Amino acid sequence: MQKKLAICPGSFDPITNGHLDIIRRGATIFDEVIIAIFNNQSKTPLFSVEERIHLIEQATKDIENVRVDVSEGLLVDYAKEQNAHAVLRGLRAVSDFEYEMQITSMNKKLEPDIETFFMMTNNQYSFLSSSIVKEVARYNGNITNLVPKVVEEALLAKFN
Ligand code: ADP
Repeated sequence: MQKKLAICPGSFDPITNGHLDIIRRGATIFDEVIIAIFNNQSKTPLFSVEERIHLIEQATKDIENVRVDVSEGLLVDYAKEQNAHAVLRGLRAVSDFEYEMQITSMNKKLEPDIETFFMMTNNQYSFLSSSIVKEVARYNGNITNLVPKVVEEALLAKFN
């Protein structure tokens, strides 16, 4: 039988425990999860793509069926190229919903065979985003428990 692959797309600038929670849970449902870094042109990233790959690899090294990749094009094209029919996204608050619905509807129009699956965030991470973590880290706030240790160290190094 064909492997059930899911693409988990995002900026991951940097990866947080909220992302990891979705990835870990997704990896119990799908045969393999590909964490795909999409270089969003409208955002100026703090971490380079190489740095983000490294951080994700470190943070997920204990999860066997997860790998990291990078793409610059359309998510649906990437998914097809990988032979994946599923996209995995996390939902935090109602505020995520409109944006996700717009993207999912467009992807469905572009590629009807690809299904998007949403996982509700773990309550403890519902307020957590890469942006807020960067903001807190910039002013020396405590981010332990919000990001993996390697990410905490990388953020400290960036802002010192
Ligand atoms: P994007 O720029 O595409 O939103 P992100 O890296 O911010 O990329 O997020 C990637 C995915 O992870 C999105 O589906 C987002 O909703 C989800 N996500 C981010 N933070 C959390 C969190 N704290 N809990 C659950 N899902 C999250």
